[in-house]
Amino acid sequence: MTSVGSVTRQIAAMEISNKKPGTSTGASGSSLRQPLMKQPSQTNVTKLLTKFAAPNPFPNSTNKPTNPSSLRNPVSSKPGHATQPSIDIGNYDGGLEIENEKRGERVYGEAAEELALDSSTSRRYPTREWSLHDFDMGRPLGKGKFGRVYMVRTKAEPKYIVALKTLYKSEIVQSKVEKQIRREIEIQQNLRHPNILRLYGYFHDEKRIFLMLEFAAKGELYKQLSKLHRFSERRSSRYIDQMADALIYLHSKHVIHRDIKPENLLLGINGELKIGDFGWSVHAPGNRRMTLCGTLDYLPPEMVEGKEHNEKVDYWALGVLTYEFVCGFPPFEDRDSVNNTYRRIARVDLKFQDKDVRLSEEVKDLITRLLRYDPQKRLPLTEVQKHPWIVKYRQKRDSAQ
Ligand code: AMP
Repeated sequence: MTSVGSVTRQIAAMEISNKKPGTSTGASGSSLRQPLMKQPSQTNVTKLLTKFAAPNPFPNSTNKPTNPSSLRNPVSSKPGHATQPSIDIGNYDGGLEIENEKRGERVYGEAAEELALDSSTSRRYPTREWSLHDFDMGRPLGKGKFGRVYMVRTKAEPKYIVALKTLYKSEIVQSKVEKQIRREIEIQQNLRHPNILRLYGYFHDEKRIFLMLEFAAKGELYKQLSKLHRFSERRSSRYIDQMADALIYLHSKHVIHRDIKPENLLLGINGELKIGDFGWSVHAPGNRRMTLCGTLDYLPPEMVEGKEHNEKVDYWALGVLTYEFVCGFPPFEDRDSVNNTYRRIARVDLKFQDKDVRLSEEVKDLITRLLRYDPQKRLPLTEVQKHPWIVKYRQKRDSAQ
């Protein structure tokens, strides 16, 4: 069994390579969070995109996947499709070309093959062939560890808006995450759920991989949480309801997320939550994994203790997320000592500090039922969706419509 000490060292090593909010990778963030860097406001774009954002495959947004539309062949998808009014995608800063001159190198051999990613050759969902020439470039959305993200629009009708994420192959190779990135892309392209960020397609050139992601018009959830310090129970309940739905879907596909935390969540046009990062996901039909991954504050006891784990790690993380949403900080956080955080997790040292905010008994009950040491005793996700704290606000939402 792995000792807490060795777990600590492995996590510490992971933390060094992990993203800081604002300059993040496609993968995880650090538990000792940095102040956020200010980014251009998305509000104007948000307003403009209500109708013309990248196609929402689930237009009724009832959390039930319907017939998914994709960018498989936008040119021929709808003959005579009306030309959309011009949507402001913002000004392109030339960043991709400038960066490409200075950054990255060609990769060769096995790594080059591993990273020759092209959705037109995908077995399950082949798309048309894409290249950078197919897009009008818009404003920068952010920087990840492996490259920049831009708001772009397809030149061909109908003009879809997507977030184009670049990843430098040589940097992926340096970080030894070729397989992880490939896996992340494969997993994400096969998923269709209103609360999971769609990956419409991908292509590559000599030095880079480009991901065509669903544009999350309201940006990062973590930024909102930082701004507001914590969310109201009503808002938290809506997010947790959506998370539970997305996780039920993921688990039904034998995907364990393993890295649920606010930094990996984005917000769609209607403020709906979108799981946006699959860096640590595993496709685990066998159901049991023993590798160590994830982020400190969200690690469940079985991972801290180096035991086998299964999809119930995501139940635990949902409990941590609920706590962080309503309190503003994760439940086992110890800013001074990583070891203490581990100890608190292993002991399930859960305390509700009611001094700043009065929490309802219902939310405390849900958190307590999810944060159980024994994975088998954690509240199943279908029960989460029936929990009074979720149902109460869902009913209010439904009756307000
Ligand atoms: P990442 O490399 O995924 O961490 O992305 C870097 C930054 O780009 C994020 O922190 C977001 O602000 C922004 N971003 C990434 N993906 C999207 C998206 N699909 N829609 C909108 N903004 C995004």
